[in-house]
Amino acid sequence: MAGRVHPAYDESSRLVVDGSIRVAEDGAPALVGTECNDCGFVVFPRRSFCRNCLSETVADVDLSREGELRTYTVAHTGQEGFEPPYAFGFVHLPEGVRLYSLIEGWESATMAVGAPVELTLDEITRDPRTDEPLFGHKFRLLGGDGDD
Ligand SMILES: [Zn+2]
Repeated sequence: MAGRVHPAYDESSRLVVDGSIRVAEDGAPALVGTECNDCGFVVFPRRSFCRNCLSETVADVDLSREGELRTYTVAHTGQEGFEPPYAFGFVHLPEGVRLYSLIEGWESATMAVGAPVELTLDEITRDPRTDEPLFGHKFRLLGGDGDD
């Protein structure tokens, strides 16, 4: 089973982007995108119409849990709410979706263009007003320490 869900996450948890990720029936995380029923175009995050052909005949679709790292960097100075150093980059999914993500496991795995990554549902940051955790997607490099 690909993908991990943070143990503190449950149905009452807040997401950074509402409706962007869910726990699937098999217990693994699933990014929720939109697929066009007319042209097949897939997009993330969800939209009410197709960005490719403007059709409004679209439906939610679970995206692949594994993808490929295409660009990355390690931040050594922190944006507020993020403890440096941390890695982020763009991940490409088989559906043609490209998304920005924090990258986990870069300390112990080889971070390179083309490296395989898998989805995790994790705490992203905390609400600065309430200190409540905010959850969302990250991708973890495969092939490092801690792999099953
Ligand atoms: Zn379309």
